[in-house]
Amino acid sequence: MYNKDNVFYKILRGEIPSKRVYEDDVAVAFYDIEPCCRIHVLVISRGLYTNFADFVAQAPGHEIKSFFTAVAHVADILGVKDSGHRLLMNSGPDAGQEVEHFHVHILGGEPLGKKLK
Ligand code: 5GP
Repeated sequence: MYNKDNVFYKILRGEIPSKRVYEDDVAVAFYDIEPCCRIHVLVISRGLYTNFADFVAQAPGHEIKSFFTAVAHVADILGVKDSGHRLLMNSGPDAGQEVEHFHVHILGGEPLGKKLK
């Protein structure tokens, strides 16, 4: 169940400020407030989905394609397309998902090491 009482819903509506780097009809991208590496941007869906599984189950195919196309575009905008980057999606308690609104982390701008930092 999607709960509108989450920070990304407020960011989407402009009720909480964010440093946006890109937006279109399916995705909004902005810098993470607590970056864990030199470049740390979040791409969130405009649609109200709780996590990756919910997004894939509920969103129409064209929206899923457009969303991940936007993620790739943001990586390009950030200059980490060719230097390398990591995409991270936390889903549920074991992954430590903090905000229950579907999002992808784009991490890069420096060597990230193997898998988890
Ligand atoms: P999760 O663990 O849910 O995948 O990560 C949520 C991310 O959202 C965290 O990296 C956290 O720093 C970020 N975050 C939480 N609140 C805010 C906020 O108000 N503004 C921004 N820009 N990022 C936030």
